[in-house]
Amino acid sequence: MFDHPSYDGHEGVHAYHDPASGLKCLIALHSTALGPAAGGCRMWNYSTGDAMLTDVLRLSQGMSYKNAMAGIPLGGGKAVIWGDPKSDKSPDLFRAFGRAVESLAGKYYTAEDVGVDVADMTIVRQETRFVAGLDEGAAASGDPSPVTAKGVYLGIREVARRLFGTDDLSGRTIAVQGVGSVGGYTCDHLAAAGARLVITDIDQDTLDAVSKRTGARIVAPNDIYDVEADIFSPNALGAVVNEKTLTRFKVKGIAGGANNQLVVPEMGEILRRRGILYAPDYVINGGGIINVAAEISGSYSRAWVEATLTKLIVTLGDVLDEALRDDQPTNYVADRIARARIAAAAHA
Ligand code: NAD
Repeated sequence: MFDHPSYDGHEGVHAYHDPASGLKCLIALHSTALGPAAGGCRMWNYSTGDAMLTDVLRLSQGMSYKNAMAGIPLGGGKAVIWGDPKSDKSPDLFRAFGRAVESLAGKYYTAEDVGVDVADMTIVRQETRFVAGLDEGAAASGDPSPVTAKGVYLGIREVARRLFGTDDLSGRTIAVQGVGSVGGYTCDHLAAAGARLVITDIDQDTLDAVSKRTGARIVAPNDIYDVEADIFSPNALGAVVNEKTLTRFKVKGIAGGANNQLVVPEMGEILRRRGILYAPDYVINGGGIINVAAEISGSYSRAWVEATLTKLIVTLGDVLDEALRDDQPTNYVADRIARARIAAAAHA
């Protein structure tokens, strides 16, 4: 455990097994320096226990950095349940998971992630109050996507300002990959700002609906990397900046809501050398966790969410400015600031 390449000084990694329900889960707490750790619960059919451990450690560290950059009083953690979400879910399994979360006595707040939905979290809530992302209750925050999308739109403007000297998007071309929740709302903001949109998705109905209301041009999923545009906005998958796509991009900036856009962190340096300004994913997409933080605080305030989102976008601008000034990859600058914020809180 302590020699694991992704261990990165985790405060705790907790393993739970409930034979009655079949639950096997890990809850990793990377840091509680800034507040209780918060991060979703993923259900995935891992090939090995080691793959499961690697995933939870990386995701939990990622949440620490995301929460630190969002300026919210939350640390980073994550839970993973071993199993196939299509066939292995049961109310008993999620109640057992709820008891695991409860045993940490508020050091960790859980929520939905890949394979886990609001209905599952509603069952978890029967065993613990340390749950967010519910759609009912005094402070329920509901769907975080509109807030995430607002942050992505404002972040695209920050990138444009540094590339073109103005954040006016009228007449700019933005290529958007994935027009589901986050991508769809982002397109609405961009269209209202006068941007020209080129969009793709693997779901034809979603694609048609967004194209109809924004006037976007549709391209095939694999063609989005070749589109001549000012900015590419990935809002579907991770690892879309990789050896294969790098040589195809004909854009000046990359700014979107998808998690883990770079296949490896070193891609940040390659983008810098190619003159492509990259908005680090976990900074620009922090709107959703800000919305969840409002729920965790116990009394949801729209004004607090808006003000905290505004600060996040200022932080994104600072990251871009420092990276441009010092010829550094933007993702390295963001990582350094996140680590410094966590270390300062731990010291305090
Ligand atoms: P979503 O499922 O609503 O939308 C994703 C869209 O991508 C879907 O329409 C899907 O059909 C499309 N898609 C899938 N594979 C594709 C492909 N190969 N090419 C083109 N389109 C493809 O999900 P979402 O909530 O909008 O999240 C999108 C991304 O943003 C994810 O990476 C997610 O982790 C990240 N994210 C979301 C939030 C949030 O608040 N929802 C917050 C932070 C990060």
